[in-house]
Amino acid sequence: MDNAEIADRLETFALMLELVEANPYTIRAYRRAAETIRGAALPVADLVRANRVRELRGIGEGIAARLSELIETGQIAELAELERELSPDLVGLGRFLGLGARRSVELARALGVRTADELRDAAATGRLRDVPGIGPKTEALLLEALASERSPRPRQGLLLNQARELVGGVAATLGGEPAGDVRRWRDSCEWLAVVCTAPDPGPVLDRFAGLPQIVALLDRDDRRAIGVTIEGVPLEVVTAEPERFGTALMRATGSPEYVAALEPLPDAPDERSVYDALGIPWCPPELREQPFAGEPPPLVEVADIRGDLHCHTTWSDGRASVEEMGRAARECGYDYLAICDHTPAVGAVRGLTPDDVRRQGEEIAAANEVLAPFRVLRGIECDILGDGRLDLPDDVLSELDWVQASVHAGQRMPAPEMTRRVEEALRNPYVRCLSHPTGRYINRRPENAVDLDRIFALALELGVAVEVNGLAPRLDLSGEHVRDALRAGVEIVCSTDAHSVAGLGNMTLAVATARRGWATAADVVNTRPLEAILGPRRPA
Ligand SMILES: [Zn+2]
Ligand SMILES: [Zn+2]
Repeated sequence: MDNAEIADRLETFALMLELVEANPYTIRAYRRAAETIRGAALPVADLVRANRVRELRGIGEGIAARLSELIETGQIAELAELERELSPDLVGLGRFLGLGARRSVELARALGVRTADELRDAAATGRLRDVPGIGPKTEALLLEALASERSPRPRQGLLLNQARELVGGVAATLGGEPAGDVRRWRDSCEWLAVVCTAPDPGPVLDRFAGLPQIVALLDRDDRRAIGVTIEGVPLEVVTAEPERFGTALMRATGSPEYVAALEPLPDAPDERSVYDALGIPWCPPELREQPFAGEPPPLVEVADIRGDLHCHTTWSDGRASVEEMGRAARECGYDYLAICDHTPAVGAVRGLTPDDVRRQGEEIAAANEVLAPFRVLRGIECDILGDGRLDLPDDVLSELDWVQASVHAGQRMPAPEMTRRVEEALRNPYVRCLSHPTGRYINRRPENAVDLDRIFALALELGVAVEVNGLAPRLDLSGEHVRDALRAGVEIVCSTDAHSVAGLGNMTLAVATARRGWATAADVVNTRPLEAILGPRRPA
């Protein structure tokens, strides 16, 4: 068994564990082990036989035991059992219907079916109501969902980072371009699409149907197919003749309202040519939400960013040290990075006391000796207490280069109270930026009741910036709110809120979200050199 075959089996195992909703850490460990094995220079089977496989990075005891079993017997018994019991297309269909994997498996067992098609047949012949726990109401809902399968819409969108990974992976395998909501960088992606160019679409669509990411095909005609993913989200693949690729890409990028206003689109091989033929300037996909045919502003780009002003380290809930984060930020090409760990009131994780802040300052000074001329800034993500006071005394805040203020607890306050609370915090003269101003978690927690118009007015008056937080579940402010902030004259900061070195990559999401709010480089504080960041805030 060669390394690729071993890696494939581990990946399949990870997929199966995902279907039965096993511990996510276990799943990730198997994925990482598969990756390591795929890239290993030596034959891993030999290492297993020599009892040396644990020398490979990320192979722990549990995985080593599975590998021995695989090499000795040619299979992993638990995997074989899962494969007998679970049909991925059935689980995918179950997710599409809003059922968890476990519930899908229970339903399939009760009906004695093993595939998505058999489930559809059982439903069509009225057998759902024989299943314990499924009353007439649930049956009606399931039948309704099955009937809407041909015009699929997921119940809930995917977070942008997950959608980008999924669609990017499919596009790369098929040699196509990501389109749909992902290309417009929507915060929650419901319409996933890939556009390929192929004179003969058959083989491309066959390949799409066979991808491991696609568990069932919902629809297929000559030039397009819709598959449903493990997450239960439909993904559409369009194949265009080369001379119409630009037109197909533009249509598949949307938004539908934006495209409809420009129809009929002329046929062209690339998107620029479509715009040329229409006689209007090319429009960045981030601005294609509403009909627009004017000259777009020069939107901010990741290359304009000079530093990151919000990240965490092992001093609170981050995974890397001050120096590691600084070094990684320097490798991003930045001039500065503000370390903004939590304060005690955050509760769930360790927060920095005044004493910690001073000790961390010494560590930051040491890191700066090593990393100069790159500059690690002494910052803090200071909790805003229930009454609007900050979680650290002013004399501590006054020592710092950059203070972010954040609401983390007591988010259900009514609007007048919440607004007063945030206003009070902004009045603290050391606060430079309001973090994740609405507190939302996409698809999980709504925005706090806070009067953003009032917050923006006060932020402008005091010279406080508002954050565009780049964590995929937050993206807060959203593009719409960025636009409101900029119209109010408030400056924004594009931040990653990185909790690891890899997290610094969230800058692409923060910048894309700012672009959706029509931000130019001049609107973004951290496109400026260090001297413009340091010093007291500058009221309007
Ligand atoms: Zn926070
Ligand atoms: Zn944070």
